[in-house]
Formats: sequence, C-alpha cells, structure tokens
Amino acid sequence: MSLGRNTLLWASRNEWLKNHVPKMKFVQRAVKRFMPGEKVEDVLLASKQLLSRNIPTTLTHLGENITTIGEAEDNTHHYLVLLDKIKAENLDIEISLKLTQVGFDLSFEKTLENLSTIAEKAKLLHNYVFIDIEDSSYVNRTISLYKRIKENFDNIGLCLQAYLYRTMEDIKSMERINPSIRLVKGAYKELPSIAFKRLSDVNSNYMKISQYLLQLIKDKNIRVAFATHDLNIQEQIKIEAERTGLDKKQLEFQMLYGIKSAEQKQLTDNGFKIRTLISYGKQWYPWYVRRLAERPANIGFVLKNLFSK
Ligand SMILES: Cc1cc2nc3c(=O)[nH]c(=O)nc-3n(C[C@H](O)[C@H](O)[C@H](O)COP(=O)(O)OP(=O)(O)OC[C@H]3O[C@@H](n4cnc5c(N)ncnc54)[C@H](O)[C@@H]3O)c2cc1C
Repeated sequence: MSLGRNTLLWASRNEWLKNHVPKMKFVQRAVKRFMPGEKVEDVLLASKQLLSRNIPTTLTHLGENITTIGEAEDNTHHYLVLLDKIKAENLDIEISLKLTQVGFDLSFEKTLENLSTIAEKAKLLHNYVFIDIEDSSYVNRTISLYKRIKENFDNIGLCLQAYLYRTMEDIKSMERINPSIRLVKGAYKELPSIAFKRLSDVNSNYMKISQYLLQLIKDKNIRVAFATHDLNIQEQIKIEAERTGLDKKQLEFQMLYGIKSAEQKQLTDNGFKIRTLISYGKQWYPWYVRRLAERPANIGFVLKNLFSK
C-alpha cells in the first residue's frame, strides 16, 4: 500500500480533520465531482439525468458510525421516505446503506429490526436494498446479519471485498441462501494478516471470486454486481461470462458517480447492465477521503479548486 493511500486512509478517520476540512470552501467545490449535492433533491435530479441516458442508480445517504439509537432511527426513517419518493416518481433507483448508520455499533438486534423495516418497505414498493461492507471488524457480524435477514427478504444484497483473504469462503458459506453479492476490491486500511496488500494480488483474487460468482449466476440465477472501475477486470469478466454461457444482460456492473462516466454509458450502449451509485448528505468527509485514497492523484484536483472561484 502506498504512503499516500495510507496517509489518506488515516486522515479519513481523524476526528480533527473530520471537523475542520468539510468547512473549507475549496474542498466543498472538489467534492462536487463525486457527489451532485447534499440533499435528496440533488441526487434525484442527478439520477433522472442518468436515467435519461439509460443508466439506473443506487442512492446512499452518507453518515456512518452513529452513536445513538435516535440517530439510527432517524436514518431508518430517512430511507423509508426516500423509498416513497422514488416510488412516487416511478424511478429505477435502488438504495444502499451502511449497517453502522442504522445502529450496528450499538445493537445487533436493533440494527436487524431497522434494516428489516427498510427491506419490508422496499419489498412492498418493488425496490432493492444493498448492504455496504465496512472495515474488517464488522465483517463477521455483517454476514451473520445478512444470513438472518435473507431468510425473510429476497430483495436484499450484500457487498463483499476481494482484498480480504476470507471472502471466497464467505461466499461459499452463503451459497445455500442464494445471496445477492456486490463485489468490490475494498476501501479500508487493513492488516496484511487478513488482506492482500498488492493491487495485483487483489486483482487476481477479484477475478478468482468473479469466476466463481459467474458460475453461480449460471447455476442458481443469483444477482451479482461487479462493482469496479477497473476496465481490465471488466473486460476479463465479460470474456469469462461468455465462456460460462451467460448473456450480456445477466452481467451487471456498478460504478460510482463521477468516475469513468463515458465508460458507464458505453456499458449500457453495448447491452450490459450498469448501475451508478450516488452518495449524498452532509457527512461526506470520511467517504470522500476514501475516494481520494483510491487514487491519490485526485488530490491534484482538490488543490486545483483551491485556486478556482
Ligand atoms: C458501486 C460501488 C460500491 C462500493 N461499495 C463499497 C463498500 O460497500 N465497501 C467498500 O469497502 N468499498 C466499496 N466500494 C469501493 C471499492 O472497494 C474500491 O475502493 C473502489 O471501487 C476502487 O476500486 P476499483 O475496483 O475501481 O479499482 P482500482 O484499481 O482502485 O481502480 C481502477 C481504475 O479506476 C479509476 N478509479 C478508481 N477509483 C477512483 C477514484 N476514487 N477516483 C478516480 N478514479 C478512480 C482509476 O482510473 C483506476 O486506475 C464500492 C465501489 C463501487 C463502484
């Protein structure tokens, strides 16, 4: 892991920076590249623009590691209202959330209850919920919770990280419940005892897991979203999918708002499924710094905004 990436991942968790950096105007301007706005209206508008280009979206309200049950309930309520707004306009927009937003640092059972309320509403409105995956300290409990909630709801998916050694086994342990998986490389700072450190190793593992998942799509018709901006990996997945006997429409890619937008459009134009994840909300600092860590060259973009109006 590079020094730049390490420093940025440290900064993403630093309380002082978290309280001061978001107030800086030039950083606020830079964030717009990855986030159309802080309000629901901003992301609904951005979603409609993408939908007009044949690109559906997933919305996630930022704000992780809340500390009171009241906040967990407010966040739950926020998603329930969002689901209604999406339905009212009949838009192809799904939602994705972090368990620590709905109480995971406080109570497993309360989190399960909150997430079930959201999943229930989503089911009623024919919508879909993905659970984001957070740092490795949450993975065991997240998988336990996913197994529990999947017993009652089939409109719920889980994100897993290819940089963790354990992920292939985790998927195998879930096979019987027909999981829906969003596969990512992983965005947190993890120790070499549990995670691949070299990008080439992460990429190899991503492909190994993808091959396994492609076969599961074929055999069990499960939903898998390959969430990566790595065009090499996307190409390899397309080739492997064809070899597995899958149709283009069975292949879903997911990417983030503001990254490789032209390539996202190309995927839909070429007959693949693509969905863009858009984040919004006031609590963007840790999420934004993780985006910078993925590509430390993005810092140049932040600095450019220091000198622009
Ligand atoms: C839909 C979606 C959901 C995600 N959910 C989670 C989650 O729940 N938990 C989690 O740990 N991680 C999540 N991530 C983040 C993920 O783990 C990676 O950190 C991120 O996607 C970068 O990895 P990559 O696969 O694009 O490959 P990389 O090898 O990092 O990037 C490939 C290429 O994409 C471009 N690129 C990648 N990131 C950026 C960036 N920030 N800015 C500009 N260009 C960039 C660069 O050109 C780079 O060379 C999610 C990612 C996506 C797309």
